[in-house]
Amino acid sequence: MDVLVPQTLDEALAMKANRPEAIALAGGTDLMVDMNFGRLRPTAIVDVSRLSELSAIRQENGQVFLGAGVTYATIVREMPAFKPLVQASRSVGSPQIRNRGTVGGNLGTGSPAGDALPVLAAYDADIVLRSQGRGERSLPWQTFLTGPKKTAIAPDELIIGARWRKLRGPGSFSKIGTRNAMVIAVASLCLVVDEEQRRVNVALGSVGPTIIRAAQAEEHLAAALTTAGSWDDRSAPLGDEWSDEFAELVAAAAQPLDDVRGTAAYRRLGCRVLARRALGWALNERRLPSWL
Ligand SMILES: Cc1cc2nc3c(=O)[nH]c(=O)nc-3n(C[C@H](O)[C@H](O)[C@H](O)COP(=O)(O)OP(=O)(O)OC[C@H]3O[C@@H](n4cnc5c(N)ncnc54)[C@H](O)[C@@H]3O)c2cc1C
Repeated sequence: MDVLVPQTLDEALAMKANRPEAIALAGGTDLMVDMNFGRLRPTAIVDVSRLSELSAIRQENGQVFLGAGVTYATIVREMPAFKPLVQASRSVGSPQIRNRGTVGGNLGTGSPAGDALPVLAAYDADIVLRSQGRGERSLPWQTFLTGPKKTAIAPDELIIGARWRKLRGPGSFSKIGTRNAMVIAVASLCLVVDEEQRRVNVALGSVGPTIIRAAQAEEHLAAALTTAGSWDDRSAPLGDEWSDEFAELVAAAAQPLDDVRGTAAYRRLGCRVLARRALGWALNERRLPSWL
């Protein structure tokens, strides 16, 4: 196996152009597991973990850019304003995994259980890809994630990062697993409120072939907040019947299967519980000015 160690992003893209079969290695926390179990025997690896171009975190003109090489530990440390992303990052693996594992690797693996992915979906992020020959392109997250562990990345491309419009409003990420740490999600949920556009975005992980947005639940909740006059007066109460219906619609959006980690019925129940909790947190937070 050849191990290619580029010093710059341009060099890395040139290597991918010459050897499209070469697999990118970032933190290695997914890739090395696959290699150790003999599921993958690449003929070449391109080590992208040292590329400074991939470790950028930028905010400009209301847009946020998160480089593919940014680790979970860095997100927890440096992005406190992005609470759902921090909560998801803090829930990944152990300190060792969070020190090595990257958002680009989560995207590259494309598992429906990837914890950063429901957050990027709720943010409506675009995934930025680049190749030497065709330059840069951005794909909406749902075009990038094409199925279970399947993505739209071309063999000669690298993931450069994710970009989204900065939302003003509360939000959270939470997940259910068999224990509190070092656990792959049995179900996960990210809810973000977009006060400017008067929308609520809800994304589910681990309950379908890929990340799912609960579109009907989102519309229902936005309408409920309108009816309650809550977009203008954030302290206006929302009736329990709206919250119950919201949680039901979130559960109905899931497409779960039975597997070793949980049954479909348990996952659907999990979605209902996570939705109820996330809504409660968001409504409480909306009454406080902390996210303003
Ligand atoms: C013990 C353990 C616990 C874990 N716990 C969790 C958890 O709780 N939640 C969770 O979501 N995940 C978890 N994981 C999985 C893993 O840590 C994450 O998916 C992580 O984000 C992978 O990032 P990485 O940088 O290590 O990726 P790598 O292993 O380096 O790469 C993963 C894939 O992405 C591709 N890739 C990486 N960067 C790029 C790039 N810039 N361009 C193109 N392709 C790229 C690689 O080619 C590979 O296919 C765990 C793993 C282990 C071993």
